[in-house]
Amino acid sequence: MKRVLLLATTTGYQTRSFGDAAERLGVELVFATDRCHMIDDPWRDAAVPIRFYDEDASVSAIVESARERPIDGVLAVGDRPTVIAARVASALGLPWHSPEGAAIARNKLWTRERLGAAGLPVPWFISFELYGHVKGLTPYMSVESYPCVVKPVALSGSRGVIRADDPASLEAAIARLRALMQAPDIRAERSDAHATAVVEGFIPGREYAVEALLHHGGVHLFAIFEKPDRLDGPFFEETIYVTPPSLSDAEQTRIINAVAEAADAIGLSHGPIHAECRVNDEGIFVLEVAARPIGGLCARALRLRIPNPKSLIPLEDGLLRHALGESPAAWEREPCASGVMMIPIPRRGVFRGVERVDQASQVEHVDEVRVTAKLDQLLVPLPEGASYLGFIFARAERARDVERALRTAHARLRFAIDPEFPMRTFRPG
Ligand code: ADP
Repeated sequence: MKRVLLLATTTGYQTRSFGDAAERLGVELVFATDRCHMIDDPWRDAAVPIRFYDEDASVSAIVESARERPIDGVLAVGDRPTVIAARVASALGLPWHSPEGAAIARNKLWTRERLGAAGLPVPWFISFELYGHVKGLTPYMSVESYPCVVKPVALSGSRGVIRADDPASLEAAIARLRALMQAPDIRAERSDAHATAVVEGFIPGREYAVEALLHHGGVHLFAIFEKPDRLDGPFFEETIYVTPPSLSDAEQTRIINAVAEAADAIGLSHGPIHAECRVNDEGIFVLEVAARPIGGLCARALRLRIPNPKSLIPLEDGLLRHALGESPAAWEREPCASGVMMIPIPRRGVFRGVERVDQASQVEHVDEVRVTAKLDQLLVPLPEGASYLGFIFARAERARDVERALRTAHARLRFAIDPEFPMRTFRPG
């Protein structure tokens, strides 16, 4: 039986999807997860316990365990373990993104530097330290610098990304980012990169996400997702992804080429990539190319048509097969239009429940409505938050019907969100 190493957090939806895919394909998954070393195999999945922040020790532990249970391919889910995956692949002689490329892809500052050095379109950017004796950025800024965007170099999902339109809002954005970076889950990552942030020029335009596999340096496109809601800030919450995009073939080719050039400049060559780009009259600005597939449940918006045997398979099945050496050359996204809405958190508060899921699910073209927020969970919107209320999936012949179905279903849902307990009004005595 072939074995694939999957680097992931234990709780992710994608871990389960990969588990199902492995079962279908008769492949054994070896998990390497960030968990407590003291508890022996609490999930009974024989996972290799690692610490994402201790990359040297994690790579050694996995390579050591691969002596007993040899690994035929690797995959990483989420941004954090991508470098460990690349280093393990390199140590075991498996084709994969280079460790250096994976490290650059995970760092927004290094990505900008690489893309700029390769002569690809990048906004102006300045990096700065969030702590210590920070000199104001004002000397480096002029009227033309606005609007700009402040962002941490190593978070994802638009967390901490804030637009500023003038010096006062820039200072406020930096203060807000500084406070956010003290959040327990971010501090627990123990990443040096979290001390650095970037301020860069705001790029106007429409935004697209590109999902592809790199196969020995060549790009194999699965989908260009259009983001029909304008993302102009001050925060950049993703909502709807729809494919195919309303672009000509020539425009799509330009986007694919721009992503291929950016991936090459970053040093990514083999494995899944997920890229984000902004398109305007000045060109195609690739914001980032992540060395991993599309995150979480969103992968369900992608099914692949394969010729042998002729069938539709979930993205995860394709990724596992690719990790085991299969070429994706003959795979393409299913012929219908498809989309997903990441249901945004409208305001901070305690989640008390949702109504009318049935009505939302009955909207024509809607495949599934999945509410993932947990009852009584504190909901935190962007820029501080890192989650959604849930996901809506739709498929139809035309992309505009998919988009309409997603919006209609969303409008039917009723979320109950209570204010947090008003601590500030509590006066003892
Ligand atoms: P993350 O990895 O957290 O998603 P990104 O750098 O991709 O961080 O930024 C998240 C979102 O913020 C982007 O998808 C885009 O909508 C917006 N954004 C980021 N940088 C810029 C920029 N320079 N100009 C305009 N929008 C931006």
